[in-house]
Amino acid sequence: MRSSLPSIDPSDCSWWLDEALRKEGNAPAAAPLEGECTADVAIVGGGFAGLWTALALTSRRPDLSIVLIEASICGSGASGKNGGKVHGYWSSLGTAVQALGRDGALAIARAGDWAQDGIRTFASECGRDIWWREGGNLVVATTSQQEEKIAGVVQQARELGAEDHVTALSAEEVQARCASPVFRRGLFYPDAATVHPARLARALRQAVIDRGVALFENTPMLSVDPGHPCRIKTPRGLIVAREVVLATNAALSERRDVRPHVSIFSSYVVMTEPAPEQLASMNWTGEEGLADLRMFLHYFRKTPDGRVLMGSGSGPVGYGDDAQARHLTHDRASIGRAEAGLRRLLPELREVPLARAWGGAIDVSADRLPFFKTISDTRIHYACGFSGHGVNATYIAGQCLASLVLNEKDRWSTLPFCTRALPRLPPEPFRFTGASAIRSAILVCEEADEQNLRASALARAIAKLPKILGLRIGIR
Ligand SMILES: Cc1cc2nc3c(=O)[nH]c(=O)nc-3n(C[C@H](O)[C@H](O)[C@H](O)COP(=O)(O)OP(=O)(O)OC[C@H]3O[C@@H](n4cnc5c(N)ncnc54)[C@H](O)[C@@H]3O)c2cc1C
Repeated sequence: MRSSLPSIDPSDCSWWLDEALRKEGNAPAAAPLEGECTADVAIVGGGFAGLWTALALTSRRPDLSIVLIEASICGSGASGKNGGKVHGYWSSLGTAVQALGRDGALAIARAGDWAQDGIRTFASECGRDIWWREGGNLVVATTSQQEEKIAGVVQQARELGAEDHVTALSAEEVQARCASPVFRRGLFYPDAATVHPARLARALRQAVIDRGVALFENTPMLSVDPGHPCRIKTPRGLIVAREVVLATNAALSERRDVRPHVSIFSSYVVMTEPAPEQLASMNWTGEEGLADLRMFLHYFRKTPDGRVLMGSGSGPVGYGDDAQARHLTHDRASIGRAEAGLRRLLPELREVPLARAWGGAIDVSADRLPFFKTISDTRIHYACGFSGHGVNATYIAGQCLASLVLNEKDRWSTLPFCTRALPRLPPEPFRFTGASAIRSAILVCEEADEQNLRASALARAIAKLPKILGLRIGIR
């Protein structure tokens, strides 16, 4: 694996969250829970999934009493540190058809559109500038192997009647949107946006407070007893609630009933200092987000002040349920890959210094689609498996979890996210060992491909294993 040393060390706090908190005047966190409280619904986790659930419940049933607890502050998890690229499932039809068949794939793609509508409405109503920009998503090939994927995507969209949701672009059309010597042909997905993720999380936090949700920050859940009612223990308190929603992201892998269906990976990003002249000189004047066609993809977008965020989905794998492992947030090699991607894909930014770098855990499900479920014989509901693609999907999670809490059979709770049988992953230590070996092999193959070289026969053979074994993750 090529490893280039990064020019910056990983930080504990994302540039986004830092900016959003400064904009709020570094207002104090909500007080932690002290003592006992009773509620109709208790939500655990103050990221997008928990906050959208709270908002959906307050909209549908304003009479419910709702408590939300967050181990740190709202937006401190993946929701405040992601790339802020917001899109549903039109660009994942391949994965979706494999997992759900034609109708299921189209159903979740339409749900992604409902989510874009919902987030757009919130962005326009929330009274804050959360940098919501609907410029579509441009996916570019940077090697001939990547270019080969384009025809299949277009063909599949045509077969599904989804041709309005993706357009193949010539190399010239790609260059007109964003010029780079390594960009070849591409695909344009119009139904996509970018957002300032931490400002979105913080705006959601304010919205749920305004709707009367009792918010307790710096309040980790220590345990949940699934009785009737449920009981949640926190360091200095107890919540007694009829319904519980667990929206704790990768930490859900601690649960024995969730663990077989989710593995932990990590993703890393670098954020540049502002470089508006360079962006203009490469024609990147539109609002589109971008990505390449690697499996461990580079994803990138601009900010209104002319910064570029470059992400690499190539971070290390987690072991078992250890979502707090330091290598998931402080891996210098992964920061190095994100930075190398920035300098290679956008050489106009070769000299632009980095302002910040950070990483975070990703909850990857066995079929790379999220799942929103109720644990058997309990009133505990949860959302997991966003697989690095959760900004849009957490809105869907919020609506689905609200329907599960309210026992409503509606257009949300009947989606395959709630109803499909979940495939299982191998147990540890096979999962970690296998995933790590396959990840390394794929990285070797993808980096060799970028340098127009052929990876070793061993790396190529290992990289092919997931396909041979019929797995749906790790497929190039
Ligand atoms: C670097 C990176 C880049 C990404 N880029 C994109 C992107 O561009 N587009 C996209 O769609 N997706 C992206 N994602 C994925 C996306 O950010 C997530 O899928 C999404 O934010 C998940 O939201 P969540 O609410 O489930 O999790 P989180 O935001 O992690 O929220 C979970 C919350 O639960 C809290 N918690 C955990 N345990 C407990 C406990 N015991 N008690 C109380 N609270 C607890 C945590 O503190 C956390 O705040 C990215 C992820 C990362 C890490």
